[in-house]
Amino acid sequence: MITYASVSRQVRLVLATRNAHKVSEITSLLAGTGVMCETLDAHPQMREVVEDCPTIEGNAEKKALETARVVRTWALADDTGLEVAALDGAPGVISARWAGPGCTYDDNCKKMLREMSGILDADRAATFRTVMALAAPDGRVEHVEGRLDGSIAQIPRGSSGFGYDPIFVLSDGRTLAELTAEEKNSISHRGRALRAILPKLKALALSAAAILVISTPVCAAKTEPGQETIWDQIMASQSRKGLIQGHEYLQQKQYGRALDEIRHSLAENPKDPVAHMMMGVAQYWNGMVDESIVSYRRAIELSPDDAEPHLLLGISYAWKDDQRAAEAEFRRSTELDPTRPDGFMNLGSIRESLGDYTGALEMSRKAVDLDKKNPLYRYQLGSVYRKLGRDADAVEQFSAAVKAQPDYEDALLELGCAQEREHDLKGAMATLKKAVSIKPGDSVARMRLARLHLALGEPAKARQVMADAFHLTPEEGGAGLQLSVSFSGGKKTSTAGSDKNAPGAAAPGPEPESADPLSMFERNLRRVPLDQAAVMHMDAVFLPKPKLVKNTLGESPSSLRKALAQAAGGAPSSAPKSVRRDYPLGAGDGSSRDAQINKIMDDLRQVMKDAPPDADVRLGMNLTFTHLVDIGRSNADPERRPKVTYEPRQVGNDMGLWVIGTSWMALVAEVLPEPGELPAQTDVDSWTALGLAHATVGESQRAMEAFMIATRMDPRSVPAWLGRGVAAAMSGDEDGAVAALRKALGIDPKNKAAADGLKWLLRPANKETSKK
Ligand code: IMP
Repeated sequence: MITYASVSRQVRLVLATRNAHKVSEITSLLAGTGVMCETLDAHPQMREVVEDCPTIEGNAEKKALETARVVRTWALADDTGLEVAALDGAPGVISARWAGPGCTYDDNCKKMLREMSGILDADRAATFRTVMALAAPDGRVEHVEGRLDGSIAQIPRGSSGFGYDPIFVLSDGRTLAELTAEEKNSISHRGRALRAILPKLKALALSAAAILVISTPVCAAKTEPGQETIWDQIMASQSRKGLIQGHEYLQQKQYGRALDEIRHSLAENPKDPVAHMMMGVAQYWNGMVDESIVSYRRAIELSPDDAEPHLLLGISYAWKDDQRAAEAEFRRSTELDPTRPDGFMNLGSIRESLGDYTGALEMSRKAVDLDKKNPLYRYQLGSVYRKLGRDADAVEQFSAAVKAQPDYEDALLELGCAQEREHDLKGAMATLKKAVSIKPGDSVARMRLARLHLALGEPAKARQVMADAFHLTPEEGGAGLQLSVSFSGGKKTSTAGSDKNAPGAAAPGPEPESADPLSMFERNLRRVPLDQAAVMHMDAVFLPKPKLVKNTLGESPSSLRKALAQAAGGAPSSAPKSVRRDYPLGAGDGSSRDAQINKIMDDLRQVMKDAPPDADVRLGMNLTFTHLVDIGRSNADPERRPKVTYEPRQVGNDMGLWVIGTSWMALVAEVLPEPGELPAQTDVDSWTALGLAHATVGESQRAMEAFMIATRMDPRSVPAWLGRGVAAAMSGDEDGAVAALRKALGIDPKNKAAADGLKWLLRPANKETSKK
């Protein structure tokens, strides 16, 4: 597995409290924002701040400022008070100690009921007010407020919550102590304050560097009315406004717009390193990788000590497959900021891709140590353990990843397979089912789940799971098919025909070879409607040919396994090398589409040319349709949903990060039979599962052989016919694919995979662009 990530930067934030209740409330609200929370427990040197200000605002800011100064990072603090109109706003700032030093919550509630006795319901209005303050280590501070209106009860009710909850009545008549924690969080003063400050934290996360270059009076602890706040200053700076907007567009995958917006900002402020950095990011996502390198270098010139542009530059180098240059940049970024886990993660990825698993282990562990709750780092560490054969450790890390992010499908797939290796079949079944439910288009997860069903004697379930694994179809919300080819040394040397020792010795069907293995990619790119924008993800994996093959007849069906085993042995030269490229395909007219496709094809040909001389190549194409509004601009309909996904394994961007994944190939390889071996089970469904396994790694010929055995054993097996359709399409035999899918449709006229696949296969290439 190779994982490079960045783009979103993390901000460390200390919560200036030791109150576990508040910490859990705040961390749950900040999950996924890129803000990494720490509590005061991590900073024993920080003493209790004396809350002696006359106002709630004053106390909140004092706590945040002192914490930020001592801990030397951004700090968030809150202070709350209950204000009762009939008591002229008391207890207010002294709510905690209203009934006297050392008083309990109960003492305070009793005092309140005494003070309010005899006062009519209509005059018992009360408000909880939370002030949340965010402070920088250099003394800048900002605050927001959250309120909750209610009234004081006549008698206490309810047992949850704390403080004045049992006597604080909401408009629906319940007291706060009668709500669940979740209900309370959704309406509470503290929840509101936190949500109000969230955009500021997000802005901080994205432009931490931008904030640092804005000069503000040091120790301007208070902002007088009418005086500009730091946020006003950020927002007032048009160029940064553009950057923030550009970042928003990037998040929404509107890459073209992001580029325009950031270019504009940069023109206004050509000396702003952050603008150059963001420019690089936008260029990168627009496929202008060389230009992004120039931009990142400029950012580094302007701000040599910032770790971020080094990290991003490393990612661009990695894209260009210049691993050494990438490594140097990642290393520099970790030197400049040893607290950033993503730098270590990227370093680990590079070490891993160079076959240095020990180095990869060390770096991945560092990343996890720095951010234990980050699912991506856990996933990477788990992958390294898996490659080292340490399955129990792998299970632990993948479990942690899934715990942190329950819908992290890559981690679920890995976890399920690791559980199976650890003989926890029940656990594996549950995990893989979850993976399939999250990503129905993941053929690998389906294949592994189907095999488990078969092992447990549930063939009907296996068939059901597999039937949905063969979607050739880019259709409304549908999943896709792995479109992949395999060939050797940059030239396609099909596995066709030569292998007489295939179990069952099926005569392979006719498989017209296309002269150029990439032509299939091109043909499918040309099927994308002109008014439709898309992103094509391309995975290429170069696997060193195994030198020792017992059986010399033809290519070994488990060459992948051998290659991976060799790689796991640590010999750098035998490590599989992989390249992933994302190419945006804009909506537009025929000639611009033509130019884009030609550019993509040129680039792909270059990638193939650079393939190691004696390697097997696996190529995968994922075509994801994006919103029309993305690039269609003016006359686009923003409501229109993506209508096509054309994906084998949806490996990318689970985390909003750029993730290269080839790890899953090993999860296929480990279940393929050894050369010359029969599969463990030889019933029709096991043959179908085997065909699916071959198909997912691009071995179309072997897939076809297995599916043909399956259709011969049971000519009414829909999954087996669907498999034949897929295998034929993969090898460029689209007529064969059409025939097989028609057969499946004949058996099951309602079969959607077959119907959708036929629709796509029979779709003409765009006339304007189909000159070839
Ligand atoms: P603090 O500033 O958040 O520690 O709040 C001061 C006092 O206000 C606490 O000791 C509680 O008595 C009260 N308080 C704060 N938040 C709540 C709440 O959510 N429910 C009830 N009482 C609260």
